[in-house]
Amino acid sequence: AYVVIESCIRCKYTDCVDVCPVDCFYEGPNMLAIHPHECIDCGLCEPECPVDAIMHEDEVPQDQLEFIEINEAMSERW
Ligand code: SF4
Repeated sequence: AYVVIESCIRCKYTDCVDVCPVDCFYEGPNMLAIHPHECIDCGLCEPECPVDAIMHEDEVPQDQLEFIEINEAMSERW
């Protein structure tokens, strides 16, 4: 699945949500999250992000790995 990382926090740009063919973005308190089981890995959202906050889970930097779980928790809850 694709994952939203820290640089999304307080970004108000939502073109990623508009391009997602399966509507798997969820809005958290201060950032967006991608539902890990609904994402079909199409990659369409990645180039839309102005702050490079979206990437495949295998490409998440070491210091941002916690965001894999944060996306999961946030998309289940919201
Ligand atoms: Fe949606 Fe595709 Fe991005 Fe997954 S990779 S969140 S399916 S646009």
